[in-house]
Amino acid sequence: MNTNDTVVDLEQLRERVRSLMPKVVEDLKDLTRIPSVSLGSFDQTQVARSAEAVAELLAAEGMDVKVVAEGGRPAVIAHKSGPAGAPKVLMYAHHDVQPPGADADWDTPPFEPTERAGRLYGRGAADDKAGVMAHLAAVRAWGDDLPCDVTLFIEGEEEIASDSLPALLEKYADELRSDALVLADSANWAVGTPALTTTLRGTVRAVVTVRTLKHSVHSGMFGGAAPDALTTMCRLMAELHDAEGNVAVPGLDASEDTEIEYDADQLRSDAGMLPGTQLIGSGPLTSRLWLKPSITVIGIDAPGVDVASNTLTASARAKLSLRVAPSQDPQAAFDALKKHLEDAAPWGAEVNVELDELGAGFSADANGPVYEEARAAFADAWQNEPVDVGIGGSIPFVSLFAEMMPDAALLVTGVEDPDTRAHGANESLHLGEFEKVCLAETVLLQRIARRLGSE
Ligand SMILES: [Zn+2]
Repeated sequence: MNTNDTVVDLEQLRERVRSLMPKVVEDLKDLTRIPSVSLGSFDQTQVARSAEAVAELLAAEGMDVKVVAEGGRPAVIAHKSGPAGAPKVLMYAHHDVQPPGADADWDTPPFEPTERAGRLYGRGAADDKAGVMAHLAAVRAWGDDLPCDVTLFIEGEEEIASDSLPALLEKYADELRSDALVLADSANWAVGTPALTTTLRGTVRAVVTVRTLKHSVHSGMFGGAAPDALTTMCRLMAELHDAEGNVAVPGLDASEDTEIEYDADQLRSDAGMLPGTQLIGSGPLTSRLWLKPSITVIGIDAPGVDVASNTLTASARAKLSLRVAPSQDPQAAFDALKKHLEDAAPWGAEVNVELDELGAGFSADANGPVYEEARAAFADAWQNEPVDVGIGGSIPFVSLFAEMMPDAALLVTGVEDPDTRAHGANESLHLGEFEKVCLAETVLLQRIARRLGSE
């Protein structure tokens, strides 16, 4: 036997984690007091302070710690060994936060963490300083008896798209490479229902230019015979969806293979839909949000209403946001969009489609021993089975880790619940759920050690 074969009973771990929580929450409050906004217009010494604070907390657990940077914001790498031959687990979270927005929108100051009715309010109290603390809690709970080799990677620029993460992953590849990854920056399905995030949609942004005339002309002189670019653009944009609101671009992947459903009234309320506005698309709502493509016109360059004159506009531009099914290559999705729009050019107009930005989606192979142990650890902690969920947006770092470690089992977990309001005013963490997250990670380390150590 080359791994730690002392099995600690679940109820013992539950008690141990419970007794740690007051200090874990105090430490979380200390981290939340540091306004570590990574956006460049904010004071970047605060991001450095927060990296140092995280490093100090991890060093106090007996971890080997370093603060590292590759031209971007500082990240923290910390390592603590388990028994010889133990499986390696990499735990990710980020210590930077979103800007707080207007103080007036907050009920209590964003960087003065405040407990109210079982929740901890503050910018970063959930996203993602609670992710940092969940990993730390698991390390703390095991003390010198860690069942796995554990490496923490705490990023400092997730909220500004992780630009230097590829360089960091490359430079520290050897020490980061692991059998299992726990990426704690997502959300659970509901209070009381844990979730593994198994799919993320990819993203494409494109700019469409429509030209119909060499120059603008008087609408009274030529309107009715010569087409203007803006009306032509409107007809072209109407080709993006069918009458029901499904995306009408051939060649885009879509799936309805989802195990849970989003309540329609809940979605209407969450999205702030007006009473008469209909839901668009078809199939389960979770498939429309997570597994099927969506297209949104996010901007149009055209004369503003207040300055518009009676003129046929010669050219118009629109920016489109395409969300791509998790497993589709975003470049292939862009190519399909481009072809569809060029083929649909109304009235012989010149249509030009240019790529603005691409981001890969993610689709986990959510099977195998690590996933089985993760689901069991969640069930242990919550006394309720976890569900698989998707996210309609993309998280750049997830696909980077997946590319770097194609053979590792990649678990996207999180501390958030539907009321967390990450990135918004009054962001908060449900403290009861947070304790379950900490327990689940603690249990998971033992389960992975027993499962992979004995295989
Ligand atoms: Zn986050």
